Amino acid sequence: MNQPSRVIKLGPLMMGGSWPVLVQTMWKDPLPAGLVPGDERMPAILSRIENLKTLGCDVIRFAVPDEESARSLGAIAGQSPIPVVADIHFDWRLALLCLDYPVAKIRINPGNIGERWKVEEIVGKAKDKGVPLRIGVNGGSLPLDLRDAVDKGAMTEIVAAVAAAEREIAILEELDFSNIAVSIKLNEPNQVVEANRIFASRHDYPLHLGVTEAGPLVSGVVRNTAALVPLLKEGIGATLRVSLSAPMESELMAAREILGCVDAGTMRARIVSCPRCGRASFDTHAFLDRWEAKLYSISESLTVAIMGCVVNGPGEARNADIGITGAGNSALIFRHGEIVRTIQREEADLAFEEELNRLLVERRS
Ligand code: SF4
Repeated sequence: MNQPSRVIKLGPLMMGGSWPVLVQTMWKDPLPAGLVPGDERMPAILSRIENLKTLGCDVIRFAVPDEESARSLGAIAGQSPIPVVADIHFDWRLALLCLDYPVAKIRINPGNIGERWKVEEIVGKAKDKGVPLRIGVNGGSLPLDLRDAVDKGAMTEIVAAVAAAEREIAILEELDFSNIAVSIKLNEPNQVVEANRIFASRHDYPLHLGVTEAGPLVSGVVRNTAALVPLLKEGIGATLRVSLSAPMESELMAAREILGCVDAGTMRARIVSCPRCGRASFDTHAFLDRWEAKLYSISESLTVAIMGCVVNGPGEARNADIGITGAGNSALIFRHGEIVRTIQREEADLAFEEELNRLLVERRS
């Protein structure tokens, strides 16, 4: 187990040390132009963020490619139910503008900003506001000299990525700035593990973990799991994002599962479901499509089973707090293997919702 990293403040949250690992996602659409507090478009955005929060999102990051986006982000940051991070490339003026708003962190690489005075301006303002800066190194955008060294076989991509992060850190440390988080994201899970291990053995800045360009849902989840679980088990990583070519909600559900692999005690609702086969008399896949996000939104520890038939249904899922299974033309709702209700399949959603609510009320009373 590594020594805990230093702790930095992310709005109202603490990042690093022995604080719980925070889950991030990134907004996938351009920010609407001209957004202001009270804007009629704001409730839909805030409602989406609130839903992300119920799925376990602690922090949300937005790309800020221009001044319009920075101003719209500022409007959101003032009302968001979770801390907001601004993701900025190259343009120091955007970082300064974002720092006029209650953003929790700025992701920017000082090495990409240009003249030193521009970096000094950002660092000075971030210091005044107490806002951390996140250095983000990606394998696909290494500095040219390091990329050249990798291409010539003079160093591995892992070593180059760590060196790139250390260069960025040195720029900030020269300005006496240490309110820093770092990410080193590569495409191969083993590279991510190794690069972050090396970094954590040399520095105590908190690390944000992830695999860059990890791919669509299935491959992306597998690759992120392969990289993040070993690191988290070693105590490396203060925040994580499971980057997927898939909706933000999927990133969050995947993050929850990854954290559950590291420490089962962190799991809230756990879904047990059968893969479905020719014996199924209940479409578990369709039912899960309708229920998955709702189940992940439950904030307490609960095992829920969704099974296709009675052959293996209630028996295999007898540890489930509540479950539903097909049974010929009917469906059965059960608790710990005991059938509590027999229903027509068409009533499945309504009846399941009633029984789930009943269980939650009993638990809470
Ligand atoms: S629970 Fe029934 S339907 Fe589901 S995989 Fe097992 S045997 Fe097939």
